[in-house]
Amino acid sequence: MDSVAAIPKYNLNEEQEKKLILREYRALLRVLKPKLKPGDKELLRRAFEIAADAHKTMRRKSGEPYILHPLAVARIGVEEIGLGVRSTICSLLHDTVEDTDVTLEDIEREFGTEIARIVDGLTKISNIIDVNASAQAENFKKILLTLTDDPRVILIKLADRLHNMRTLDSMKREKQLKISSETVYVYAPLSHRMGLYTIKTELEDLAMKYLEPEAYKEIARKLAETKRERSRYINEFIKPIKEKLDRTGYEFEIYGRPKSIHSIWNKMKKKGVAFEEVYDLFAIRVILNIPLEQEKEGCWKVYSVITDEYTPSPERLRDWLSNPKSNGYEALHTTVMGPQGKWVEVQVRTRRMNEIAEKGLAAHWKYKEGTADESRFDKWFQQIREVLNNQDSDSIDFLHDFKTSFLAEEIYVYTPKGDVKMLPVDSTALDFAFAIHSMVGSQCIGAKINHKLVPISHKLRSGDQVEIITSAKQKPNEDWLNIVVTAKAKSKIKDALKEEKRKVADDGKYVLQRKLENMGAAFNQHNVDILASFYKLPSPLDLYYQISVKALDLKELSEFHVLGDKLEPPKPIRPEIKHDPAHALPKKDAELIIFGESSDKIVYTLANCCKPIPGDDVFGFVSTGKGLTIHRTNCPNAARLLANYGHRVVKTKWAKNKEISFLTGLKIVGLDDVGVIHKITNLISGEMKININAMTIEAREGLFHGNIRVYVHDKEELDELVNRLKKLPGIETVDRYDTEQQ
Ligand code: MN
Repeated sequence: MDSVAAIPKYNLNEEQEKKLILREYRALLRVLKPKLKPGDKELLRRAFEIAADAHKTMRRKSGEPYILHPLAVARIGVEEIGLGVRSTICSLLHDTVEDTDVTLEDIEREFGTEIARIVDGLTKISNIIDVNASAQAENFKKILLTLTDDPRVILIKLADRLHNMRTLDSMKREKQLKISSETVYVYAPLSHRMGLYTIKTELEDLAMKYLEPEAYKEIARKLAETKRERSRYINEFIKPIKEKLDRTGYEFEIYGRPKSIHSIWNKMKKKGVAFEEVYDLFAIRVILNIPLEQEKEGCWKVYSVITDEYTPSPERLRDWLSNPKSNGYEALHTTVMGPQGKWVEVQVRTRRMNEIAEKGLAAHWKYKEGTADESRFDKWFQQIREVLNNQDSDSIDFLHDFKTSFLAEEIYVYTPKGDVKMLPVDSTALDFAFAIHSMVGSQCIGAKINHKLVPISHKLRSGDQVEIITSAKQKPNEDWLNIVVTAKAKSKIKDALKEEKRKVADDGKYVLQRKLENMGAAFNQHNVDILASFYKLPSPLDLYYQISVKALDLKELSEFHVLGDKLEPPKPIRPEIKHDPAHALPKKDAELIIFGESSDKIVYTLANCCKPIPGDDVFGFVSTGKGLTIHRTNCPNAARLLANYGHRVVKTKWAKNKEISFLTGLKIVGLDDVGVIHKITNLISGEMKININAMTIEAREGLFHGNIRVYVHDKEELDELVNRLKKLPGIETVDRYDTEQQ
């Protein structure tokens, strides 16, 4: 893994560079050796030569010769994903068509259609026709289209992304933000979905390193500090189990491994706890080497040995042996009470399962032969294909829909007959109904979950048994689009709404036809188009619909001229959609920030979602109609914005300015004690002379929860306030909050 990252840096002379490149190429051949068949070596050599020649004048940002990148991508593919010879050829060529004079035809001539098709899939669409579509989303859609034909495209793409993330240091800050955001938004979930857990974890950690550098460093430091203590504990935990497992005669490995920085950070944020309070900083893993037919029995035997020693938490047993995840993941997870009263997660799997967990799709195929398991990936691809086929929404919607319905974690729910359905997390009863059948979905009026009646918007949880209640009178409405998360339900609802609209529009069409004929004009495409564009409606269907629901009375029609049977619009007067100029401009006056290299004053607004204040790590985002908005880089919306609209991001930093105050919120939790409010307000407005804008305190069960909104000048002042608040007696936590509604 690290050998790829540790490529010696530039300032080499030409001779040394050549040697380095050749060395990397030979290293690639070495790892590929077990897979080489006669003739392969020549093909690889040819691909290497073509790529090396095509990129020969190019350098990466770090200064090193470009060809080292495709070589590294190829090696990641072989070593970390388990790809073979043909994929390696594609990895070597992956950037040639996009960046050099090599054409797809050249590649097809040299290597045949199969390889040319994959390389085509890896080539970004550079000239997007629709300016509103995000290039990232369009390209992603393209990758997915190819994915369903040949998943190797996505696997190589992930290797490419991983290498780019590993070498992100030499990029500019805004590029780092954009690429890291795309990575957390799309590529990490995608690698998770492909079953590549190791790669997913590394991608997330690397992205966090750039998006939240401070938190990253802090957790890394604390992990290092507590390492020895942790190892001691792990040994103590493992010892008795190891002895007992030895007696079973199984061949096994047992070890503890730390959880990723990103997952620890997520836990801290989700539960609102400090590093010290995250109990599962590591997990124990038992890997059995056992024949396929004894796997299940063996894993449960291990489970029983562990739980004889330590008491398990009944809510935390995850049986992915009987119900593998749809990305192929199989294992048994349990959480037990270890020494010193600490909860410890234990994961039990076999060697085969472990390889699938690490190499995902590629390993899955290796084991698929000879087993009865029909590929889960095939099923997944089938679902994606279905959605891609009836897609007319724009690509950003698509990316979002794709993410929520195909990349999310999954839950298992049951039909009344006990069949399992897998749905993305946050699915509702209505999603379930559409998963059963689109008819059931369209007529859904409610559901019974575990025999209890719930509304269609009810969110499902793993293990729920769901019975859908339908009515022939029911039909989909606009609101339903906000209730569902699955792409299938969404597209079916949209279809139904369109159908409904078409029916309504029929009346309007008839009305229009009569009116036109009465004034001697023909009811034809030309005249209808003239009218639709006169009223600024996107299609004739919308025109008919507006007429039918009486939103349009056609009174302007009398001002039209009729020439022959053709309509002529009246000259200048047109109904205009009113623009409210006040709306288009930022409301507040500008404060000072520095932009790029210049120090011009620029008009901007502060994003409502994350309320940045001076000193925060921020980026500027150009939004249509609103000008420039400033977000914090750790804003909950940042990843989505940066990933989808990277081209609209501008580098932004704060200038010193003590004159302006910024509103920010603090959440304070502490012991409910007389005088605590006085202490807080005294510190804020008395000692620190900070203005309080609003304050609510709620006490329950001996604790109080306070929300305070204060005006501060910059992050320094805020940090000082937080630190001093924390030191007050009885105060447990003080956190800044991001969103308005809290
Ligand atoms: Mn590349």
